[in-house]
Amino acid sequence: MLMSFGDKHKGKHVGLVLVEDYPYFIWMKSKGMSNYKEYRKMLEYIKVIDEKPFIRPCMGVCNQKNTTTRFSMYHRSNSTLHYFCDYCSPNCLGADADKLLVGHKFDDILSFSRGNKTELRKNIKDYVCSKGFPSRKSEEALNDFFDDSLDYYDNSAINKRHPTNTNKLERYSKRKDIFD
Ligand SMILES: [Zn+2]
Repeated sequence: MLMSFGDKHKGKHVGLVLVEDYPYFIWMKSKGMSNYKEYRKMLEYIKVIDEKPFIRPCMGVCNQKNTTTRFSMYHRSNSTLHYFCDYCSPNCLGADADKLLVGHKFDDILSFSRGNKTELRKNIKDYVCSKGFPSRKSEEALNDFFDDSLDYYDNSAINKRHPTNTNKLERYSKRKDIFD
């Protein structure tokens, strides 16, 4: 779905606006626009993102063997997200347990960012990339990411559209720009 209104984002993919300008989503709500189809779509997309599996490998001691299920972040500004499986402790990289925030979904990113818009944008981007958000922001790629999730867990659909998770992981680990 494309934004049907607004000087700022008209014509852009609703999912792209959600990811790149979350404060706009908050602004829509503050303007009483939460019954707009774009707003409701964004709400739906947040769920879609949360339900997708992490494709980013665990950064813990399992040596990338286990599936990532959560992320952690220092309780201070300008901290980056680190990703872990259920078995590796988020403190295993030497972090102080009491200074770490641990979460697994979009809402956690919001509370971690404590209203700081720059951090919010950075962390949302990092989180969605860990869920396979496309680097190519074409309408087709965005539709594939956001609207394809109903059949995402259907094996035949995975084979057709997402050849294997391994391939996806390989592709993802090549995207150095995000992680360095
Ligand atoms: Zn692990």
